[in-house]
Amino acid sequence: WTSEMAQRVAVNDAAGSKRTARVRVAVRLRPYMDKQDEKSEGPCVRGLGPQTLEIVNWRNATETLQYQFDVFHGEQTTQQEVFLSSVKPIIPHILNGQNASVFAYGPTGAGKTHTMLGSQEHPGVIPRAVREVFQLVRTQVKDQDDWEFSVGMSYLEIYNEKVLDLLSPNSQDLPIREDKDKNIIIPGLTHTSLSSFSDFHTHFVPASLNRTTASTKLNQRSSRSHAILLIKVVKCQRVPPHRQQTGKLYLVDLAGSEDNRRTGNQGIRLKESGAINLSLFTLSKVVDCLNTGNGGRVPYRDSKLTRLLQDSLGGSAHSVMITNIAPEYKYYFDTFTALNFAAKSKQIINRPFVRETVMAPTNAAGKRSREEQDAGGSGE
Ligand code: ADP
Ligand code: MG
Repeated sequence: WTSEMAQRVAVNDAAGSKRTARVRVAVRLRPYMDKQDEKSEGPCVRGLGPQTLEIVNWRNATETLQYQFDVFHGEQTTQQEVFLSSVKPIIPHILNGQNASVFAYGPTGAGKTHTMLGSQEHPGVIPRAVREVFQLVRTQVKDQDDWEFSVGMSYLEIYNEKVLDLLSPNSQDLPIREDKDKNIIIPGLTHTSLSSFSDFHTHFVPASLNRTTASTKLNQRSSRSHAILLIKVVKCQRVPPHRQQTGKLYLVDLAGSEDNRRTGNQGIRLKESGAINLSLFTLSKVVDCLNTGNGGRVPYRDSKLTRLLQDSLGGSAHSVMITNIAPEYKYYFDTFTALNFAAKSKQIINRPFVRETVMAPTNAAGKRSREEQDAGGSGE
């Protein structure tokens, strides 16, 4: 009974502590990529505090809309800060048989891959989280010598609702199943055991390079597919009753949230775009459903992504969505849509309030006379 009991214990603990299934939502604004743009147009979105930001109102450019999130990461925020505040706190749970997931959401070009993967000089959430897992395992091995830990990874992509194994490049669409303990499993998916961070690095880097190279060839593939890294920690008791707990951490670089049907900047209209990407659309419904918590059926089964994450979203799982946004006006509608998705179940905190100078011509110094926050007042 060991495995099953261990599962139950974990689930009961979670229920006992009345953990909610809410998905925490952080927003990260990336810096300007081109200083010239910054000078000539100024941003269409800016931070107001550690949890709030405002964006120009497209219906009336003299107004802005304010939003509140669990965390707002301004353009100066470092990779380390994003990791510490949004991701590090959930990692210990996967060493206790619980599941967790971290998503990067937002339009193509807004910084999802930078946030998740980062670069050699500025490593992102993925390498930091994996390092943290090994660090925690090392400490726990010392403190709890009656338990044995093993860490492993899988890496896959969901593209056109097909599940593809990134550690086995020639694989076909893999099925998603549920075992009798309600764990989600993918028979046939490569699972690689890892003994250290450098071991992880060895397996992950070539696989993620494969994906990037393929993306330039296959026209926007990386902006239309979800890349999902799974880190699994299995903890076994060395002595009877040999309890076993499995914790899973999903680190997900989601498909771009922009509406791919839209072409150019002419005739842009805000649409409810259910057809963008079934998995992304379903994820938004699932998050909405979990966060409003009105007891309705959570539509996990409606897409591959949410089906796969079913045991790691909601319930006793710990989830964080990092919505990446860009400051440039050319991203305006995609930013607006992404913020509304992120905020859907949290309400916009204010009615629009008047800003006098949003569309004022830029002055020579390149510093617009953006009215200071209090000058306009909240209008409420
Ligand atoms: P996405 O994956 O959402 O399409 P990327 O992560 O590829 O976007 O980011 C687009 C560009 O912006 C890349 O050149 C990336 O290095 C850069 N970038 C994104 N976020 C930041 C940031 N916070 N600081 C510095 N550069 C960033
Ligand atoms: Mg990307």
